[in-house]
Amino acid sequence: MTLTDEQHAIRQMARQVADELIAPHAATWDREHRFPAETLRQLGELGLLGICIPSAHGGGGSDYLSYCLALEELSRADAGLGTTVAVHIGAGQLPILAHGTAEQVERLIPPLARGEELAAFALTEAGSGSDAGAMRTRALADGDAVALSGTKQWITNGSYAHTFNVFAREEERISGFLVRRGASGFAVTREEEKLGQHSSSTADLLFEDTPAERLGPPGAGMRIALSTLDGGRIGIAAQSVGIAQAALDLASSYAKERNAFGRPIAGFQAIAHRLADMQTEIEAGRALVWRAAQLKDAGKPHTVEGAQAKLFASRVARHWTGEAIQVLGGYGYTKDSPAERYFRDAKVTEIYEGTSEIQRIVISRALLGDAASTRSEEGVRAR
Ligand SMILES: Cc1cc2nc3c(=O)[nH]c(=O)nc-3n(C[C@H](O)[C@H](O)[C@H](O)COP(=O)(O)OP(=O)(O)OC[C@H]3O[C@@H](n4cnc5c(N)ncnc54)[C@H](O)[C@@H]3O)c2cc1C
Repeated sequence: MTLTDEQHAIRQMARQVADELIAPHAATWDREHRFPAETLRQLGELGLLGICIPSAHGGGGSDYLSYCLALEELSRADAGLGTTVAVHIGAGQLPILAHGTAEQVERLIPPLARGEELAAFALTEAGSGSDAGAMRTRALADGDAVALSGTKQWITNGSYAHTFNVFAREEERISGFLVRRGASGFAVTREEEKLGQHSSSTADLLFEDTPAERLGPPGAGMRIALSTLDGGRIGIAAQSVGIAQAALDLASSYAKERNAFGRPIAGFQAIAHRLADMQTEIEAGRALVWRAAQLKDAGKPHTVEGAQAKLFASRVARHWTGEAIQVLGGYGYTKDSPAERYFRDAKVTEIYEGTSEIQRIVISRALLGDAASTRSEEGVRAR
């Protein structure tokens, strides 16, 4: 697989931005649990918060693979910031572009694509994660007016977003809605404390008779949410590759510098072969990301390929960030090295935008058909 000149250029630009504007601050953001609003504003000015949004709507007009390349680089420097960007673009702007009216797109997308505002995607609730269809947030329609009542949990960008894509039960169906920050009855009730990704915001939301506008037709909510996640998973896979790459770069350079028994530890086969395996699996994960992104760019089905990319790349990230700590020895376990941050940041890639178990359901159903469905999983609907 090769990249076009434009894709190469975007990757280079994102790499430079990651090295100069993000990496030097990532440890501080992590330690202080700081949301990097000022850096995000700079990324917006550089066009990185609307890369794959058409230029007619204020974006960069590039393809989805370019977006994934940039996301890998940003996440290599700081995974929390990668999550902020992935949700802002992949789960925030793209469903509005795909399912919003021309008026909604014209009004809401340009400030998001330019990074003047942030977007969020609110599906999960306390009682419904993988089983998204069990959500309890309700939509009450009165003519054209709709009001939402309920709560959402663990919403990325929750404390900072201006536009929220919200999913709610409308009679027996699930519909999609848009809520603007400041709407009556809307509140951010809690910021989550997490294991890692401390530079990202993960918040709980409350809707009390909150006015909302429709995103797509009544009853289309599950279709909108699941198709959003189909693409979003490719982005999370790219993020996973970025985190794993950061751990490989760190472990490789440490192995060449650290001496034991009179030689660099890279000279021990146990270390060198571990790094060889690590690089090989990262390349395999990257290839899966590129394949799924290229299918999406070509308008072809990519549900299974996206699930495979996420399943594989998130495991690569979780496993190899742990092994990178091993290569660094005691130093890897301390806050003096970023290895422990990579390890903490990587774990959640196996959980959000569909857990690894859910990715296996998606893949096995495509492989085995109805034979792989159970009654209980029918309710999961491949979240
Ligand atoms: C940092 C962070 C950011 C997030 N951001 C967002 C966001 O922006 N928007 C949003 O809507 N949500 C967000 N989420 C929520 C996330 O998508 C959910 O956590 C995820 O979908 C899993 O749901 P759950 O946590 O309720 O786990 P559960 O669904 O309760 O699952 C618990 C365990 O059971 C397993 N399991 C469940 N069903 C099955 C099954 N049928 N077969 C086999 N195993 C099964 C799961 O794989 C998991 O191991 C975020 C979560 C985190 C941690």
